[in-house]
Order: sequence, then C-alpha cells, then structure tokens
Amino acid sequence: MKAKISIFWFRRDLRLIDNHGLFQALIQSASVLPIFIFDKHILDKLDNKEDARINFIHKALTDIQDQITALGSTLRVFHSTPLEAFKQLKEDLEIETVFANHDYEPYAQNRDLEIEQYCQQQGIAFKTYKDQVVFERDQIVKDDGTPYSIFTPYSRKWKAALTISPVTPYKSEDLLSNLAEMAPFKIPSIESLGFNESLISAPKRTIPLEIINTYNVTRDFPAIKGTSRLGIHLRFGTLSIRKLVQVALKKNETFLNELIWREFYMMILWHHPRIVDDAFKPAYDLIRWENDEAQFTAWCEGKTGYPLVDAGMRELNETGYMHNRVRMVVASFLTKHLLIDWRWGEAYFAEKLLDFELASNNGGWQWAAGSGCDAAPYFRVFNPEAQLKKFDNQNVYVKKWVPEFGTDQYPEPIIDHKFARERVLHRYKEALTVTQ
Ligand code: FAD
Repeated sequence: MKAKISIFWFRRDLRLIDNHGLFQALIQSASVLPIFIFDKHILDKLDNKEDARINFIHKALTDIQDQITALGSTLRVFHSTPLEAFKQLKEDLEIETVFANHDYEPYAQNRDLEIEQYCQQQGIAFKTYKDQVVFERDQIVKDDGTPYSIFTPYSRKWKAALTISPVTPYKSEDLLSNLAEMAPFKIPSIESLGFNESLISAPKRTIPLEIINTYNVTRDFPAIKGTSRLGIHLRFGTLSIRKLVQVALKKNETFLNELIWREFYMMILWHHPRIVDDAFKPAYDLIRWENDEAQFTAWCEGKTGYPLVDAGMRELNETGYMHNRVRMVVASFLTKHLLIDWRWGEAYFAEKLLDFELASNNGGWQWAAGSGCDAAPYFRVFNPEAQLKKFDNQNVYVKKWVPEFGTDQYPEPIIDHKFARERVLHRYKEALTVTQ
C-alpha cells in the first residue's frame, strides 16, 4: 500500500520562510511533498526563449531544492499541464490533501478550479490560503460592501484594518521536519524546458533599508538607485509581503503606500476581471487609435527622439526593468502622443518586465491612458521634455541608456509635442462625448 502524503504546490510563493500555505500543510500533515509545475499553458506562450523570468524561477527552485534535500526531502518539479502533473502524482502516491496559496489572476483561478474539481473526484482535499497580499478580494471594501475604485479611501481603510489585525509571519521554516522523506528529485534543466540561460540577471532579494528610509525623497529620480527593485521578488514570492510591510510600517509611509497600490490593483482585477481586455471606464473603448506600426516599433526600440522615453525603453530592453517615473512617461507617450492602444504597450511590458504583474501592469497602463480606475485625467498629457527637466535635469539617466544623445546620430522627434497634445485632446473628447 502507498503511504499517505500531502502535497504543497508552489506557484508564486517560491520560498520556505513565512509561507502561509506551506505552513498550513506542515502543521496539518506529517508528510508533505512540495511540488512545482512549469506550466506548459504558460511556457508555450513565451516567445523569448531566453526569458529571464524562467531563469529566475529555476534558480529559486534550485535554492529550495538545495535546502530541503539537506533535510532528506525533495521538491518534485514537473514540466506539463497542471492536470497532467496531478494525474501523475495520483498514480505514484496516496494523496490526502493538496495545499496551495490563493492566486487571483483569471487564468490562475480557472486552473485552480480545474485542479480542485479533479481532487474532489479523486477524494483528495484541496485547501488554499491567503499569502501574496495582506488583504485580498473583498476584505477591504466600502461600508456598503461594494469595491473601491479610488485609491485614497481604499488605502485609509487598508491601514485601519492593519492596526486591528497586524501582520504576523507564518513560521513555515520551523516545521520543515514534516517534509516527506524522499530521494532527491532532479529539477529539469532550463534547456529541457525549451529555454536558454538569460544574460539578464535579477535584482537582489535583500531589503535595502537605506533606500526605504529615504524612499519618499529619492523614488522619482531614475538616475539614482532610489527604489527597492524588489518587484520580481514580490511577483514570484521569493520575499514575503508580510515581512516587507512590517519594514515599511516602521520606516517609510510613502513606501507602504506603494505596497498598498499593488494590493489595490489586485483587488480591482479580482472584482473586475473584464479589465484584462476592456477599459475600466467603457467610454475609453470608443477612442479611435492611430495604431501606427512604424511608430510603435520606434517606441519599442527607444528611437522616438524623446530622450527620456528612449532611455526608458532601452533600459527595459536591456535589463527587464524600468523606473516607475519613466514607465509613466513612456506609457503616456505611447497612448497620448502616438495614440496607440494601451493594450499594445501593456503586452510589450508583459513580455519584457521581470516584475510583470498582470494587475499592476494593467492598472499602470489604464492609469496612463486615462481609462482606468483612479486614472490620470484624459487632459493631463505629460510633456516628455518637461519631465526630463524635472526628473533627470543633468541627463545622467538619459546618457546612460542613450549614448548617442546630443550627437547627429540621435533621431529627430517622431512627433511634435504641441500637435500630439491637441490631437489627443480632440480624439479623446470625441470618444468621451459620444457616450454622454
Ligand atoms: P518600489 O518603488 O521600490 O516599490 C516597492 C513595490 O511596491 C514594487 O516592487 C511593487 O510591488 C509595488 N509598487 C510600487 N509602485 C507601484 C504601483 N504604482 N502600482 C502597483 N504596485 C506598485 N509594477 C509591477 O509590479 N508589475 C508591473 O507589471 C508593472 N507595470 C507597470 C506599468 C506601468 C505603465 C506603470 C506606470 C507602472 C507599472 N508598475 C508595475 C508599477 C511600478 O512601476 C513598479 O512596481 C515599480 O517601478 C517597480 O520597481 P521597484 O521594485 O523598485 O518598486
């Protein structure tokens, strides 16, 4: 007879420390096998075979594997669809319960529903827990129970809720002796997954206290290292949000507010999954976009003739990162100056950003386009030259990423600012007045 075992399914929570679902698995079961699935549904859609995020996940799994093989256990890693992986596990083991953490994106919710139904058919319990946010779904809603669409009152309520129930870590790392005893399982190589080593490396996981201390002063200047660069660690859960919120609470309220923006956008996506395809404010789907492909290519390649836009795009292409101030400028430029549908830019960011997060990316793009909840008003058109003067006055950031800036090699602007400003105001007004 096969021995009874529970499964802990790692997804975007790739750590052993302060992992809620893992903690629950380890206190509820005497023998827990952790697994990870390189999901073919997701991997097959990635065109870039040197995707640095695959490398990042692979490294995080190898770190986990090293730690738990030293304890006589193992992580089992699949390269398949989730359903196939669970069918395989069911053949090999007598599974009691599958544990995992909540995942809020539409694809993830459908995936979990499918696995939960499969487990039910097989007589296996399926239990999930809140881990990647402090407050989820409808935990922070208006007094009448409806979701917020404006950040400030949401954040006020979020902070009030935190004083009533402060974050406490889950000491999963203290319970690892309940991991199943098993011979080490070999993690598939990056090549066997159909990918190659990436030349792009991810920022460190260390919480930079000196940056967080002065975050409110430094965060807007792309030439200095004034933000945490922890996005990818929050995305894949190599860092606990509870730990980071505890630091933010002590050190810097502006930084805490940014962590709340992350939860705000996740809450918005959970309540309004239609925003994956549609404008949050439906009238904005009536805008007549230009969608000029040559201009889009110039934007992607950082050759628009607007130095701050070009520096940002080249930083993104070379490192998988772009400073938040510059994300706002390039997104505004694409949607408002070039009148290109925000979904084009959103998709480009989704492919390139190491910290790509569906909710925040969609939120950021719809904010810039004006179509989102609590978005920039449509008549606010960033002037990329004025932004440059304000936030990179000495051109330090620009020169770093656009070495030919200031020479004859640097292109002329692909569009005139005054013309673009008048055109977008007219075009937006046209769409927005149709619906009044
Ligand atoms: P820090 O400034 O150090 O902030 C710490 C953390 O707070 C971030 O890592 C992130 O998790 C969260 N955060 C900060 N600002 C925001 C914000 N405005 N909205 C939501 N969360 C925030 N953020 C993503 O995590 N993934 C995305 O795909 C993404 N796409 C964006 C697209 C556009 C068009 C815009 C304008 C913003 C986008 N952002 C996105 C938000 C923000 O730019 C990044 O979170 C931030 O630049 C990441 O750098 P950092 O880790 O140094 O952040």
